[in-house]
Amino acid sequence: MRRLSFILALMVIVFNFTALFAAEEAGNLNVKSTLRHMLLDISKLERGELSDFKTDKNMVWWCELDNDFFISYQAGSRPRIPAQAAVKNEILTESKMSEPMLAIKRGLDSPLDEFSADINIIYETGPYVIFQAPHDILNKISKKESNHFKLESLKQNIRVAVNSRYLDIPEVKNADTVSVNLKRMTGYIKTFENFKTRYSYSQGYLDAANFAIGEFKKMGFDANLVEYLDGGKKQYNVVAQKKAPAAGGVNDNDGKFYVVGGHLDSMSPNPSIEAPGADDNASGSAGAMEVANIISKYPFAHKVRFVLFAGEELGLRGSKAYVSQLKASGEITKVLGMVNLDMIGFDRVPPISSLWQTRQTFDPFVSNFLAVAKQAAKLKITMSYNVWGSDHVSFINAGVPAFLFIEDEYGANPNYHKITDRLEFINPEMLEEFVRITAQGLVNILSAETQPQK
Ligand SMILES: [Zn+2]
Repeated sequence: MRRLSFILALMVIVFNFTALFAAEEAGNLNVKSTLRHMLLDISKLERGELSDFKTDKNMVWWCELDNDFFISYQAGSRPRIPAQAAVKNEILTESKMSEPMLAIKRGLDSPLDEFSADINIIYETGPYVIFQAPHDILNKISKKESNHFKLESLKQNIRVAVNSRYLDIPEVKNADTVSVNLKRMTGYIKTFENFKTRYSYSQGYLDAANFAIGEFKKMGFDANLVEYLDGGKKQYNVVAQKKAPAAGGVNDNDGKFYVVGGHLDSMSPNPSIEAPGADDNASGSAGAMEVANIISKYPFAHKVRFVLFAGEELGLRGSKAYVSQLKASGEITKVLGMVNLDMIGFDRVPPISSLWQTRQTFDPFVSNFLAVAKQAAKLKITMSYNVWGSDHVSFINAGVPAFLFIEDEYGANPNYHKITDRLEFINPEMLEEFVRITAQGLVNILSAETQPQK
């Protein structure tokens, strides 16, 4: 048996080499051009069927986009399409252009727009675009990458948007029931908006940061501006945490803590003058502050640190600097998990939809929050294991279990980075639900962790 399969394998290799040489001799037929692509609808596919399909040896790569599944294979060796999967489209690619690329954008406009005459768009839904471009154009497009626009090669398999039916979400019994004060939270957003701009280098940013510090102090937290240098210029993150109570038979004074954060800075076409940034990201900043209000009532409140970041819009600068400071002090090893609230108020069409973005290895941490979200069934849950674009990335790069909790329709927000990003366009029900889930998840984790020792 073993010898036979060895000989067979050898024959396959020899055959492939022969085919390859034959192709090269034939002229400009290159190996890449024999790739075929197909778009499948997997909405009827069971979880097991999908995972089996992913291991099909004829699959060159795949990309998971909620109910759509994009695959690549060699001409002549088509993977076995599962019976429940429907072929939506067999895609003919342009052989003179690049391999298909995935672009992910924020807001309605994207850097792809200016190249629309030159590129071949294969697929488009929400923030996701799969396209080909002439190589020189692709080079230009790749220079537009930022934390608002990302390009991905499809050469590796990626789970960009995973439907919740493919997730293991545990059942939980809530330790206690938290309640959100929506009026207080929208009040914070209004105040932030009224500073006119919170662009990192503006007075408005500092005023907003000081306002947040005042509010954290009212809740009984120690709160400070924590300085970092941005190209020699002083910038400030806001950091708030309660002092640990004196030790006394409770096993929770090990100095370990969770971080809830969001970026406080804002962006617009003319950010030093006006950038209200209600959704991006007064919503997440106010959300973190409301989580603080809720947590402050509990005996384990000192186990959560709240951080509002500067410089996110300029390239995650505040969170990168903060994580460096945590590394320098050794405190990074005490961070048990991080929740990043960024853009938690825009929803174009019901039901309210949420995107959770993390690394798959951090599922156990994220599950605590997913479990709460699943209970109420108010939110459509989509997971992404393609991490980019906001302050959680700084923590994930340092090995901290972290996730981004964000509206799923950010790709359709017409007010993104505009002076029209205002409280009036924010969905209050969404805001409330995101904050409730964050606070309830933390209460559940900390209630279990900080039981008095027997
Ligand atoms: Zn943002």
